[in-house]
Amino acid sequence: MALPSKILIVGGGIFGLSTAISLSKRHPNAQITLIESAPTIPNPHGSSVDTSRIVRADYANSAYSKLGAAAIQKWRSTPWGEEGRYTQNGLLLVYPGDSASAKEYARKSYANVREIEGDNVVFLPTKKDVLGVVPPYGETLDVAGGYVNWGSGWSDAEASVAFAKKLLDEEGKVVLRHADVKRVLFDELKDKKPRAIGVELEDASNVLADLVVLATGAWTPRLVDLRGKAVATGQAIAYIKISDAEQRELENLPTILNFATGIFIIPPRDNLLKIARHAYGYRNPVTVPVPGTVQSGETMQVSLPENGVPVPLEGEEAFRVALRQLLPRFVDRPFADTRICWYTDTPNGDFIVSYHPAYEGLFLATGGSGHAYKFFPVIGDKVVDAMEGKLEPELRELWEWTTMTTPSSETEIMFDGDGSRSGARDSILKDELAKSRKATRGSVL
Ligand SMILES: Cc1cc2nc3c(=O)[nH]c(=O)nc-3n(C[C@H](O)[C@H](O)[C@H](O)COP(=O)(O)OP(=O)(O)OC[C@H]3O[C@@H](n4cnc5c(N)ncnc54)[C@H](O)[C@@H]3O)c2cc1C
Repeated sequence: MALPSKILIVGGGIFGLSTAISLSKRHPNAQITLIESAPTIPNPHGSSVDTSRIVRADYANSAYSKLGAAAIQKWRSTPWGEEGRYTQNGLLLVYPGDSASAKEYARKSYANVREIEGDNVVFLPTKKDVLGVVPPYGETLDVAGGYVNWGSGWSDAEASVAFAKKLLDEEGKVVLRHADVKRVLFDELKDKKPRAIGVELEDASNVLADLVVLATGAWTPRLVDLRGKAVATGQAIAYIKISDAEQRELENLPTILNFATGIFIIPPRDNLLKIARHAYGYRNPVTVPVPGTVQSGETMQVSLPENGVPVPLEGEEAFRVALRQLLPRFVDRPFADTRICWYTDTPNGDFIVSYHPAYEGLFLATGGSGHAYKFFPVIGDKVVDAMEGKLEPELRELWEWTTMTTPSSETEIMFDGDGSRSGARDSILKDELAKSRKATRGSVL
């Protein structure tokens, strides 16, 4: 399928930047504009920007394993991974004795990555075997077994977003603008699907295009009605300052990931240790106008990101419990910083890389579901393949949005993701923050 010449990408995270890079290479004569609402790329509040992100081919679903392996090749052997942007430290995937689902995920994932990495992947049938791989993680570790894949690693996410932006700047073909997109503009044609013709910005000016690509991450439900299709969930991260000696001791360990608790610890850099939780997350219901071809005044309640809020007490306590088990020496160490980072969760954890089923000229590249970062060097090509109608069937089946469902109140819907989530299923961010404030006041009185 030929692509039109004027293409507008909204969003400067991994989906938007990678798409811009691929489009400008494969369609050098297209006029491509990328609009990002934050004043900078990297956007410190974007999901793609953080100290670190896990890079793995370790998936129970072989389609993602293969894509992960293709991405890892780029991280390992092209400029994407240079200058500290990629570190191959290994990934230790563990499960406790009481979680059949975590064990099953590890079993399938092990089979997939053994085929890709061969002897780089070592099965660890007992806790003793696990501790042999990570001696600083003490006897308190609640695991029954797992495996280590020495072919996985982690990436400096802020540096890699800056690298992608630099690639675009150097190439000079994509026009980068900083502005907040208020809504998608449509042309209503008789007996045809409405056609996206551009966007309106917050200052009421318009940017017109033949094809609009929304790569707006967890903010996408403000621009298209994604009720039942995707939801923004807030995920907890905390950082702990460590000494030089602790840095040296921990920096070469594999990343540890426990799909039963969702807790993961990526080795530290620059004396900062990060602990995070892959969970059902916090929702943040907000009332906004229903997006669409007409501004009818109708509103809906959807979860949208809230920037700059700390992790509620509930999340901090979950980290303390995990630290007691994993690295007990840090259990009382104050958190240097905490952050809520926003997933765009879909029902099965599959991305949305697809034309919108109800409109012409509107494409979505989103639905990262907490695991899209690692594909940064390769996802743009897959997005452009999908735009051209050439995406391999295995991925198309996972990512294509084929039919419109009747929107329902999105906040009532819980998504299971890929079955690897932990924590409470119905946490509302503002309620948890209110509980934290009350507990803090209580402790002062
Ligand atoms: C805590 C956490 C841990 C994670 N860990 C991993 C991991 O270990 N490995 C992994 O592979 N993945 C991981 N992920 C997932 C991964 O980071 C995300 O799936 C991915 O970064 C999403 O990229 P994105 O481009 O969709 O979103 P974003 O990076 O959020 O980009 C969207 C951009 O769109 C802009 N935007 C939104 N609305 C508008 C508008 N109206 N106008 C203009 N601009 C707009 C935003 O400002 C933002 O910069 C993690 C995510 C989180 C939150």
